[in-house]
Amino acid sequence: MTQNKDAFSHLNKEQREAVLTTEGPLLILAGAGSGKTSTMTHRIAHLIKDEGVEPWQILAVTFTNKAAGEMRERVESLLDGPVNMWILTFHAACLRILRRHAEVLGYSNSFTVYDPVDCKAVVKAIVKEEKIDEKQFPISSLLGKISDCKEQEITPQTYRTAFGTGYREDVIFRVYERYEHELKKNNAMDFDDLLLNTVRLFERDEAVLDQYQRRFRYIMVDEYQDTNHVQYKFVRALAEKHRNICVVGDDDQCIYQWRGADITNILDFEKDFPGAKVIKLEQNYRSTGNILAAAHSVIANNSRRKAKKLWTSADEGQKITYYRAEDEKDEARYIAQEIDRLCTIDRQWKDFAVLYRTNAQSRNFEESLSRRDIPYRVVGGVRYYERKEIKDLVAYMRLVENPDDELSLLRILNEPKRGIGNTTRDKLTALAGVRQESLFRTLSDPDVQDGLSAKAGKAVHELMETLTKYHDERANLLISDIYDGLLNETGYMKALEDMNNVEGDSRLENLLEFRTVIEDYQKEGGDSLPEFLEKIALLSDIDNHDPSENAVVLMTLHSAKGLEFPFVFMPGMEDGLFPGWRAQDSPDGLEEERRLCYVGITRAKERLCMTSASYRTLYGKGSYTRESTFLREMDPKLLVGDGVFQKREEVMHGRSVKIDGYSNPEPYRPFGGNIGSPYDRMGSAKREVHAKKKAPIALAAGDKVFHNKFGEGLVIEVSGNVVSVMFDKAGLKKLAADIAPLKKIQE
Ligand code: ATP
Ligand code: MG
Repeated sequence: MTQNKDAFSHLNKEQREAVLTTEGPLLILAGAGSGKTSTMTHRIAHLIKDEGVEPWQILAVTFTNKAAGEMRERVESLLDGPVNMWILTFHAACLRILRRHAEVLGYSNSFTVYDPVDCKAVVKAIVKEEKIDEKQFPISSLLGKISDCKEQEITPQTYRTAFGTGYREDVIFRVYERYEHELKKNNAMDFDDLLLNTVRLFERDEAVLDQYQRRFRYIMVDEYQDTNHVQYKFVRALAEKHRNICVVGDDDQCIYQWRGADITNILDFEKDFPGAKVIKLEQNYRSTGNILAAAHSVIANNSRRKAKKLWTSADEGQKITYYRAEDEKDEARYIAQEIDRLCTIDRQWKDFAVLYRTNAQSRNFEESLSRRDIPYRVVGGVRYYERKEIKDLVAYMRLVENPDDELSLLRILNEPKRGIGNTTRDKLTALAGVRQESLFRTLSDPDVQDGLSAKAGKAVHELMETLTKYHDERANLLISDIYDGLLNETGYMKALEDMNNVEGDSRLENLLEFRTVIEDYQKEGGDSLPEFLEKIALLSDIDNHDPSENAVVLMTLHSAKGLEFPFVFMPGMEDGLFPGWRAQDSPDGLEEERRLCYVGITRAKERLCMTSASYRTLYGKGSYTRESTFLREMDPKLLVGDGVFQKREEVMHGRSVKIDGYSNPEPYRPFGGNIGSPYDRMGSAKREVHAKKKAPIALAAGDKVFHNKFGEGLVIEVSGNVVSVMFDKAGLKKLAADIAPLKKIQE
């Protein structure tokens, strides 16, 4: 063996051992920042350079396209040149295999890959034909169910056998079976099929399996802790012959159980591959002593984990700083100010990362950073005001102000789906051109509506009615009431709720967070819709800088996996936000959140700063907060700052936590108590919006009323939908009763 000493001289003993252990199953189980990914990269370079392995004989699988790209770069730099090897995500690897052999499974090799939008259309058509009630069985939840089944290799038939023929189960079975049939008929596969069909291909055709087993003499998988059942089978099947499989991972960083990741894959590796060598990397090269100790003091609270220790030869470094902000604005202001202060001569903006729990939190940081002219980029996500759902709702609001805004009308005409395709849309635009009137006018014409398909005609009619109504009444409504009204009456919110999946929830979160933007504007005395829209327009195109440029990184904790930064900020350390309120009910959920916290802390190389807001408005709902369980779990010696929890004294979890006369109006409840509603801001924001949809109240002359915008007044006359009210301050107003935000005052 011609070992290249130079290339490995900086590796430690265990890392070198892992690089040199090329034969047989190998598990590198190690904590964060211990060089797992680097070791894997070196191992690939070693195989090619020193062992004479051909690049095409190696398969390296990673979790995201970004990680695959980075790994390829690192390998190529170690080998001084491009390599032709498979460094791919699971989906990409499977797609390549299926393109060559799909006919074994009865597809042609030019099969189509359906993205989630295509799949939805398929399920929708089935639901319609089978006359299934969409309210009871939303499309997205059916699709989610199908995906769950596929992840666990459950066919329609096995589903039926296992779950029986109850009403619900029967519907799911029927839809699933027909869905499979439809896709097959169209020579199409969905994303789950890519994995599942590859596994089936291997089971069905020994010759094909044999070919790949021979070809891939060396298989490596990064982030193995986040593989699901089918991915696991794929890896297992391929590795069976040569058994040169190396998986690396950290059970403490499994953060995708909600998407089917199965932590037992990594915990059972030694059972699955008898004789496996296990190498533990114990030196952390990434973080300072204090950061590492903080990470440990948190993760140590998880019960289901393999004990691991990590040490570092780095200095203790600075303590973790903690700032208890007044509110989320103050929190964002503080973080921007700190970044400005810390970014001295030998630092770059890209050395700083703000890692938050939910996308909706990004907005305040975007604003506070731009206020200081600090460049930033939102990684793995879109800047808040550029998000589709925000732009859509802004378009609706623009139409309320100005119905002739054709650009906005075209934007939302089929958002949510109203059955108006591109062709129809173009025809309508052309018609408006011929008639020399605005598109809005054309669409308001009953004859034009009648000319559309029954569904589209009805939908357009409703849309025009809603927009006209809000346009006419806009002077009599608060912006927040217009916004909530639009969310309800355009069907936008319902469409997202019906998606009933993570994507829908996250878009809904962003929309509900927009209520905070409006609330803030109104709190400052703002009352003009055009002025508000102008403000938003300005905010949305603050510096359109190049995303590859040197900039502060904003992203969710989930997308930060595998990455590292000199300075990390973790905002929103509050119970109900992080850990999320949903996780607090289940021990498993809480453990997964805790792993996410561990992932976050261990991204930091030099400095970590955590913050929380004592009063937080999220989704337009404000409430006092309690500092995160995870903060309380951290060894207080590692923290400096103003942790209220550090000063109180109360027994929790059998441990002693200091508490002083802390005047949080939120009653203090030990963890595990019922902290449901005030923390479920999203739920209560949703309910608040829905509540506005209630049937209008019956009013009669003489009633005393309260109006959100005009305050108290007396009803003078009610005539059809028009109610005339004499307001104490605003004088006489004629309002549309069905949307006026009126409450009766009982005397
Ligand atoms: P994660 O669990 O977060 O994915 P990891 O275990 O994959 O982390 P790497 O990202 O490979 O860790 O390495 C963490 C940091 O440590 C990197 O900056 C890497 O360059 C550095 N590093 C790894 N091994 C060594 C070593 N032997 N000597 C010096 N630095 C090292
Ligand atoms: Mg890694």
